[in-house]
Amino acid sequence: MIPISIPHIAGNEWRYIKECLDTAWVSSVGKYVDKFEEEVCGFTGAKYGVACVNGTAALHVALRLVGVEPGDEVIVPSVTFIAPVNVVRYLSAEPVFMDCDEFYNIYITKVLEFIDHETVFRKGYTYNKRTNRCIRAIIPVHVFGNAVRMLPLKSVCQKRNIKIVEDATESLGTVYSGGSLNGRHTGTTGDLGCFSFNGNKIITTGGGGMIVTDNKDYSDRARYLTMQAKDDGIRYVHDDIGYNYRLTNIQAALGVAQLEQLPGFIKVKRSNYELYKQRLDEIPGLGLAETPDYAVSNCWYYCMQVDRTTYGMDREQLMIYLQENGIQSRPLWQLNHQQKPYLECQSYHIERAHILLEKTLNIPCSIDLTSRQINKVIRTLRSGYKRKSF
Ligand SMILES: *Cc1c(COP(=O)(O)O)cnc(C)c1O
Repeated sequence: MIPISIPHIAGNEWRYIKECLDTAWVSSVGKYVDKFEEEVCGFTGAKYGVACVNGTAALHVALRLVGVEPGDEVIVPSVTFIAPVNVVRYLSAEPVFMDCDEFYNIYITKVLEFIDHETVFRKGYTYNKRTNRCIRAIIPVHVFGNAVRMLPLKSVCQKRNIKIVEDATESLGTVYSGGSLNGRHTGTTGDLGCFSFNGNKIITTGGGGMIVTDNKDYSDRARYLTMQAKDDGIRYVHDDIGYNYRLTNIQAALGVAQLEQLPGFIKVKRSNYELYKQRLDEIPGLGLAETPDYAVSNCWYYCMQVDRTTYGMDREQLMIYLQENGIQSRPLWQLNHQQKPYLECQSYHIERAHILLEKTLNIPCSIDLTSRQINKVIRTLRSGYKRKSF
């Protein structure tokens, strides 16, 4: 079976972890935690980094930092892994769901239209006209490594006092090109950014995450909240409710070793993307989704699009056909405004998300994918064209 995405452990992982074990620095204090934070900052250009147990925890804390309170609202995309939606509810706030653009990202034009038509600005805050709740924040998710169109969003959010927490969990290594964001990494253009180092991400610590920000107050407070909100670490005085969200030194050691290989990983992701794109676009009814031209994408995941009538199979049938031929593929996430816990929430003119859900299949994209495996995927997809058995 050719898996859709597995980690690639090929550098100093063993050596660094062995050092943690040999020295017994295995828990949440140690040089690798500090080093990992510094190096993620060095790589992305963020000023401060706070390592967390996972990306979801990072998002949870980030939303608290920007002041999301019970009864507030947070704008989120419907097309995303569900974590950035769930963290809104962790804080007893409500998500408002948005449609996606052609890159699967939150549709900025519609978000701005929503803010313009459906909200009012009162005493320094933005309120939803329908619910009268305060819209405290927005979580743009750089889905599959595609950079969100941040520039127009930033200026409106600044005017309307809506905080931006970027979910950059899938986009480590994606950089804006041209314009005033030229050279800036995703995750570093909003108030706070969050990364994940889960097993399926471009680099992994097994489980892990990081909050990045240029704001020292946010980073100090993130550190405080992720380490149990200790005001006196000897007498155990706690003036706030914190979390046990700190990354361990063992995980960070894995992260430091992975980060050394990241530039190489990105190169492989991009060149495999180009290879797939060229060959897939030749098959009638199939194609690979573009990446935005205003950024250089890390090409983390590959979105194949199936035109059912031309190709002869729909996305679901093709997934089964690939499975039978030893190739793993996956559809998009179920749209979040249609997930059971969120059926009652507001969603704003969601249209394109339904269309893209119907025709998108993610295909194998692991770093160690061989050209033989890519050829097999292409051959199988070609043989599926107008196959009569369905
Ligand atoms: C992976 C992911 C997360 C959560 O990261 P974990 O480290 O698994 O908690 C959040 N948002 C998106 C879009 C993700 O893909």
